[in-house]
Formats: sequence, structure tokens, C-alpha cells
Amino acid sequence: MTPDVRDRPGRPARPDEAVAGRGIPEDAWDRAVRLIGGAREIGLACHVTPDGDALGSMLAVAFTLRSMGKRVVASFGDRHFAVPRLLRFLPGQDMLVPPEEFPFAPELMITFDSSTFDRLGLLGATAARAGEVIVVDHHPSGAGFGTLGLIDPRAAATAMLAEQLIYRLGGRLDRDIATCLYAGLVTDTGSFRHSSTTPAVHQMAARLVATGLRTDEIARELWDRSPFGYLKVLAAALDRVRLEDGVVWTYVTRVDRAAHGLPYAEIEGVIDVVRRTDEAEVAVVLKEDDEGAWQVSTRSKGAVDVGAACAALGGGGHHNAAGYTSRAGVEETMAALRRELGRA
Ligand code: AMP
Ligand code: MN
Ligand code: MN
Repeated sequence: MTPDVRDRPGRPARPDEAVAGRGIPEDAWDRAVRLIGGAREIGLACHVTPDGDALGSMLAVAFTLRSMGKRVVASFGDRHFAVPRLLRFLPGQDMLVPPEEFPFAPELMITFDSSTFDRLGLLGATAARAGEVIVVDHHPSGAGFGTLGLIDPRAAATAMLAEQLIYRLGGRLDRDIATCLYAGLVTDTGSFRHSSTTPAVHQMAARLVATGLRTDEIARELWDRSPFGYLKVLAAALDRVRLEDGVVWTYVTRVDRAAHGLPYAEIEGVIDVVRRTDEAEVAVVLKEDDEGAWQVSTRSKGAVDVGAACAALGGGGHHNAAGYTSRAGVEETMAALRRELGRA
């Protein structure tokens, strides 16, 4: 078999070879390339408390825009702006600014992995003021926002769409860009375990790995390390876990975290322990953030659409992984969620 051009590092794939992003009309890609080509300064934003897909996709595109000679700022709209420890290994963090330093009304803004203004946090209002907003995303879009959507819900990760955008801008993969995109791909496919892991996902992974990135180091940074206090907080959460009518659930309070100096972003992995329960179809973890609100994480094994349940409660997400914010108490929050799960 002749080696595919895409297998060689640093060579751009032809966009028409792409599988991800096929749901996006050609004229939308063309318009995005024209808008970006005509802009001098571009503001990039991803969803609050960014995960590997949000931050990785944004930084990968930021590298490309910078190499095109654009002035680039990238940010996310958290009140307490900090890159989650898990993601500090990502290259390109010098391009990040806190939301206060983001342009007030950018001529062009590009958003990543965010399906609503809300999910942009403090930068939602900025997006509403921007001249043009290109939305790069793979969530099943609800109301929709922005002036141009590069949205494909069939893409396993926003990183797949970011890769296509990079090629269409004439960019190519290097190790830094590939590291960012790979972080997005492995995060959203659960290390190639979820049903979203199509041949196109593995083909993209092959292109990325061919640049020489260290998959072992990335996996370790993302999943195989944590401060000692995490074990204590996990123990507290597991100690009060409950299994009720096929739903396994628990919660992590601010007090739990404070006792061990653990930042909010460090408890993201609790759901991955809880969801392994054979007897449960749905797993839920209520995570109390620094403001005292519950960030509700839900996971399904497939029979229940947790995305629909969370959307009904003001949040969103995918069929098998979704979330929302609740300001009610623990029991009240679970009662409301159980009601919606019954409908979903
Ligand atoms: P998480 O449980 O935080 O990993 O979130 C799982 C998925 O749910 C994310 O990929 C988002 O798509 C979605 N999600 C989580 N929290 C929210 C929220 N407050 N509003 C909308 N969607 C959310
Ligand atoms: Mn995300
Ligand atoms: Mn994503």
C-alpha cells in the first residue's frame, strides 16, 4: 500500500479527504476562511472550566493563526481564570489572557466546544458584541449562536473540526499543534473507548502521533496523576455513594475540597470511578464549585439520553455525557434530575 500523504508529519491533508466535518457545508468553510483571512486581530474563546477538547482545539487553531501573522488572543470566561492543572502541559499558553484583557468588541471571534453564549461565561457578552462569531463545535446545537457555524454533532470532538479548519487555512501539523488536538481527541473519546470512536478518529490520531508526540506523557498528564488530597476527597465521595433505581450517584462539597486544599478542577475524574457500577444505567456526581453552586455531571451507558435530561434543566451535552448547574440542595437537585431522567 502506498503511504497516505496524511501519514507524513507536517504535510497538510487535502480538505476533501476529511471525514470529520462532512456535515458542514462547503460554503461555510469557505466563508470561515475568508473571514479569518480578512481579520487582523482575532479573539478565541472556549467554554468555561475548559476540558482538553475546549482548550486543546482553541490553542491548536491559535498556533495556526499566529503563524499566519494574525494578532491572536485566547481566553475563557471563568470568574477565577486559571488553566486546570491537568491541562498545564499543553503548549501555547503564552497566547492565553484572562477574560478582562480580551478585546471588548473584537472584529472576529472564534469559539470552541461551546454550544451557547452561556457556556462562554464572562465572554458570552463579548461574543454578543463581536463583529463576526465563528462557532466551532460538535454539540447537538440548541438555539444556536454566532454568525457562522462550523458545527458537526457527528464529530467525536471539536478537535476534529479544528484540525479541518487548520488544513483549510493552509496550516499544517507540528508537534505542538498535534499535542493540543490529541488532548481534545482523547478527552472526548475517553481514550478511544466511547462509541464515538470511528475509523476517522483513529485516522486523525495516526496523523497526530506521526508528528512525534508522546502519547504516554499526555495520558499520564491527563489521567494518571493527582495530588494526594484527591484520594481523600474521592474516599469521602465514595463513602456516601448511593444506588437508587439504576442511578448511582454521589456528591463532592466545597468543604471536602477545602479540607485537602483541592481545587474544583481536580475532581473531574470522580464520575469515571462512579460510572463503572454494573447495576446502574446512569451515573451522577454533584460537584460544588467555589461559588457554592452544584455542577452536575451525568453519564449514561446508552439507554437513557442524559443530554435531553440536562437540557431540560438548563444545561446541555451529549446523549451519554451531559451536565448542568443547580442552585438547589442535594436531595432537591437529585429529585428534579430523576424526574427528567424518567422522561428521557
Ligand atoms: P462534564 O460532566 O463536566 O464532563 O460535562 C459533560 C458534558 O456535559 C460536557 O462535555 C458538556 O457538553 C456538557 N455540560 C456540562 N456542564 C454543562 C452546563 N452547565 N451547561 C451545558 N452543558 C454542560
Ligand atoms: Mn468540552
Ligand atoms: Mn467536546
